[in-house]
Amino acid sequence: MAKYTDADCKLCRREGAKLFLKGDRCVSKKCAIEKRPTPPGPHGPSRRKPSEYSIQLREKQKTKRMYGLLEKQFRGYYEEAERMRGVTGEIMLSLLERRLDNVIYRMGLGASRAQARQIVNHGHIEVNGRRVDIPGFQVRTGDVLTVREGKRDNTLFKELRGAKIVMPKWLEFDTERFVGKILELPKREDIDLGIKEQLIIELYSK
Ligand code: SF4
Repeated sequence: MAKYTDADCKLCRREGAKLFLKGDRCVSKKCAIEKRPTPPGPHGPSRRKPSEYSIQLREKQKTKRMYGLLEKQFRGYYEEAERMRGVTGEIMLSLLERRLDNVIYRMGLGASRAQARQIVNHGHIEVNGRRVDIPGFQVRTGDVLTVREGKRDNTLFKELRGAKIVMPKWLEFDTERFVGKILELPKREDIDLGIKEQLIIELYSK
């Protein structure tokens, strides 16, 4: 039966960037933005020069959609980062990267952040020996993540056994034992998503 797969791809076309929302499809020739890199809708790209506000808004929407968050949740990360000492934009990105669903995705356990969130929601993951089913759980340096014993034969994980996975240097994951570790907190240079966080900060601080 044909499956409707377009809606997420429309978000990428709207933002003019790959948001990697559909797993393997995103790195295949079927990727919608590769085929049609124009905004969705009948009118095609606007000919007007975008305003400063619309550039900032699009950057925020792009980042929010990449991490699969709602406005209130996303703004919460900005507000938390603003209360902390340091560069607000960099702290905000670090907090987003430290979400458990993102870490699971980065470790290669989910094909997309949405799938990684489902893995967490379904209680497949333990952090330091305790089951954690909150996708927004913030990992810390030294945390040990495990796929729960009875879940490792799940089709989601079976193919991963022994596979070589490329992941950011702040993480490690052993695909034989299904155990991973947070080696350090992510720094700005570890977050390679093409995000201009300063635009988001400018938007929110208006
Ligand atoms: Fe669709 Fe993924 Fe391509 Fe985005 S990156 S257009 S979600 S296939």
